[in-house]
Amino acid sequence: MLKKDVKANKPMKVVIIGNNVAGTFTAQNLRFLNEEIEIEIYTQEAYPYYTRINLPEVISGKKLIQDLIVFDEDWYKTKDLKLFLGHKAEHINLENKTVHFSNKNKSINYDKLILALGSTPNIPPINKAVEMKNNKQGVFTLRNIDDALEIKNFIASIPNEKAIVIGGGLLGLELANQIKDTKLKTTVVEFFPRLLPRQLDEECGKMLKDEIERRGIEVVLNATTQEILGNGKVAGIKLKDGRQFDAGIVLIQAGINPTIDLAKNAGIKTNKGIVINEYLETSETDVYAVGDCIEYNNQIYGIIPACMEQSKIIAATIIGAKTKEYDGTIPKNTLKIMGLDLTSIGIINPVEGEGGSWDILKKADVKDCCYQKIILKDNKLKGAILFGEKKAVSYVYKKMEEDVNKDELRKLLDLYIYRCEKCGDLYDEAKMGIAFEDLPNDYKCPNCGASKEYFRKKID
Ligand SMILES: Cc1cc2nc3c(=O)[nH]c(=O)nc-3n(C[C@H](O)[C@H](O)[C@H](O)COP(=O)(O)OP(=O)(O)OC[C@H]3O[C@@H](n4cnc5c(N)ncnc54)[C@H](O)[C@@H]3O)c2cc1C
Repeated sequence: MLKKDVKANKPMKVVIIGNNVAGTFTAQNLRFLNEEIEIEIYTQEAYPYYTRINLPEVISGKKLIQDLIVFDEDWYKTKDLKLFLGHKAEHINLENKTVHFSNKNKSINYDKLILALGSTPNIPPINKAVEMKNNKQGVFTLRNIDDALEIKNFIASIPNEKAIVIGGGLLGLELANQIKDTKLKTTVVEFFPRLLPRQLDEECGKMLKDEIERRGIEVVLNATTQEILGNGKVAGIKLKDGRQFDAGIVLIQAGINPTIDLAKNAGIKTNKGIVINEYLETSETDVYAVGDCIEYNNQIYGIIPACMEQSKIIAATIIGAKTKEYDGTIPKNTLKIMGLDLTSIGIINPVEGEGGSWDILKKADVKDCCYQKIILKDNKLKGAILFGEKKAVSYVYKKMEEDVNKDELRKLLDLYIYRCEKCGDLYDEAKMGIAFEDLPNDYKCPNCGASKEYFRKKID
């Protein structure tokens, strides 16, 4: 199956640019499928594969750099993977099949080239944001170890100041939580009317906001940041509606942009990301792309599960066994803040008129800060929000896109039907959205006016 350079009888040489989740797992999968291929991995960073998940904890001092390293350099040696750190690829020559690294003044050749270039933080159009970030005047984004160390050092130089995090998505909140632990008074400003706009509905977004504020982080919604204030040093931000907030540091965590320039300059088809087909092939022969840098069916992903799925398919494609096709990745997100369990998966706000029969099982228990919403379409599990309760998480992960048994789901979510003993009227927690226990004490049966005590849990 393995293609060889027939003239020289040499094994195929695969070059991977990028050494994080996508590049590393592609290399590992390739090696698993074939022991002969020559695999070289190049990265501009100075570290072997590390996880970005814990970068915010490097800032708060809870983790050290070595805690983040997933595979050390010995791991690469045992897998016979050649790793080249500190190599920034500047130019791809598709005709000669070479990649040039200007900072090392060297060019290498490849038989197959895999672009695992990842993404960089998006900076919204905010006056002076890019300029003050580049001039190191107190504006930061967080993507890699160097960013985390820079932010940590900067915070040490501004004790007792305030911090602003622009972006109330997952990374923004996780970052804000760690910044708050450095003792800076922290404010999150979010453009949308709720936190985690892509992962939550309005009701759960409100519960999360209350919980985040209870933890001592101020949250400002509907906030379009217009300008970074300060001359030569950050002094705060100004919103479009005129409100101003003081701060000694501003951190922008507002989405990602796939890294495409290297591919684009070589003539490889790009749009928002590097455009690939279901086999992770780009528009050019023998060039493939994987991970955060890709765009598939007009979609970019930016999550680890997508990188992992794609890295299996690309490895099979490269060795010529096109057995599997990529079909996109269901968004799966968990907020990683200690003591705050929140998972959002798949479709969470079904669009009216999309066809099929949608069914929502929902329970909001404001007192215990717990919200569970399960979305079904034609009895298939399509999505879920699970906040404050972990019991159903593994079930939901396992059963996505499968037919489900609603009674089983009700039990798992502690969703009950209560019957009024006077008139037989039913209160279905799944339909009403509010836990029966949470109803006010003066709740009356809407049918016969009986008080709350007349209701009994219906056991089927
Ligand atoms: C703080 C933080 C927390 C996160 N938490 C989660 C989480 O909990 N769950 C989740 O699913 N995802 C999370 N993510 C996202 C996740 O880390 C990314 O989806 C993942 O890292 C993407 O992997 P990748 O290999 O495609 O790209 P990247 O991780 O971006 O790696 C690409 C690498 O290629 C290098 N590179 C780029 N261009 C060149 C070049 N020209 N020459 C040489 N090298 C180059 C880059 O420097 C980089 O090292 C988080 C991200 C951050 C920043």
